Amino acid sequence: MKKDIEIICENNKNLESCGFITFQKNNFIVSECKNISKNPKSNFEISFKDHVSFLKKNIIAVFHSHVISGDIFSENDKKHSEEIMVPYLVYSLKNKKHNAYIPKNIRKSKAMDLFLKKIKNY
Ligand SMILES: [Zn+2]
Repeated sequence: MKKDIEIICENNKNLESCGFITFQKNNFIVSECKNISKNPKSNFEISFKDHVSFLKKNIIAVFHSHVISGDIFSENDKKHSEEIMVPYLVYSLKNKKHNAYIPKNIRKSKAMDLFLKKIKNY
């Protein structure tokens, strides 16, 4: 999973990459979405249309990259993660590190339990 995220993010060195981790047929799948933010170098935004189409696919987490900052989550990252109640993953192109943010109120499911185990030492 980390490797898939790195490949997607390293492919876009000048803007934040973003997408979803879904759980399908007992596997965690990493899928890239278009970043529609007006400020894609320091922010990301996934379209409502993409969000809706992925809702059917059992969203487990959101991933994105940081271009100009390290692997520390912004206040907005934390806020959005809490709002949609799924973890946020980040990969920093600057320090090449991964990080995970787990919201206080998390959507509970068997797949989420599995995911939390998987990222325990992320
Ligand atoms: Zn961020």
